[in-house]
Amino acid sequence: QLATENFSKENILGKGGFGEVFKAILDDKSIVAVKKIEVEYAKAKEEFENEVKLICNVHHRNLLRLLGWSSEESHLLLVLEYMPNGSLDRFLWGPRRGTLNWKQRYDIIFGIARGLAHLHNEFHVKIIHRDIKSSNILLDHDFQPKIADFGLARFHPEDKSHVSTKFAGTLGYTAPEYALRGILSDKVDTFSFGIVILEIISGRRCTDMNSDKPSMDYLLEHAWKLYENKKHFDFIDETLDVNQNQEQHLMQIIEIALLCTQSPVSK
Ligand code: ADP
Ligand code: MG
Ligand code: MG
Repeated sequence: QLATENFSKENILGKGGFGEVFKAILDDKSIVAVKKIEVEYAKAKEEFENEVKLICNVHHRNLLRLLGWSSEESHLLLVLEYMPNGSLDRFLWGPRRGTLNWKQRYDIIFGIARGLAHLHNEFHVKIIHRDIKSSNILLDHDFQPKIADFGLARFHPEDKSHVSTKFAGTLGYTAPEYALRGILSDKVDTFSFGIVILEIISGRRCTDMNSDKPSMDYLLEHAWKLYENKKHFDFIDETLDVNQNQEQHLMQIIEIALLCTQSPVSK
């Protein structure tokens, strides 16, 4: 059903670990995003099947819908809802840096929270995304966020206590107990969400480890300082004009972010 001209260079929406994502137009003129995964990677097939299995039953306005899939000889295709504003990172430090206002950032944070709550609470087993980060949050035409990229998602280990699994995810966003000891639970996503919140309000990226750019530690340290004595407003994205009324909301959001990164098993 998908013509090959849809997969030309000018239609590329993004690149990932195992392939590319294209904007494509279907016969009925509707626009979709097609994630093309090269099968030469054995792991890619595993992630593809995983992504299909996990998200085909998930329906929520803050979780990216899977519309269809196909498995060809040389590649695998996932047909996804098209998100015209692309990924959140573009608006924080990417080409459209500084264009999100306070209200939009606020709504994005709570939209992600609703999507995560659905994943963690609405099924008979919890779904853990394992790769929550700004490049996996996509924005709709009205900047409503949708959580995307379920390639690493897992069902919560049957045994509700601490089950060790091999680490997967993105360093900088990963909960310490998981990165260091392989302890997997839904708290792993909550931790990453806390880091994403700090990225949204600071406009800084947690995975930059150069000395002149911030890391996760930098974000956490500044969020704590701001929370404790309100003297570090320079940590807030300088393109964001926060008035006195909004300052109170900001402090509440920072408190939420700090709570997310305080999972009891972290220590
Ligand atoms: P990977 O698993 O390789 O990281 P993603 O699913 O995260 O792949 O997609 C990679 C990038 O492609 C995203 O960060 C985003 O910029 C773009 N992208 C992915 N899906 C869509 C979509 N449905 N609409 C618009 N852009 C998308
Ligand atoms: Mg991704
Ligand atoms: Mg992926």
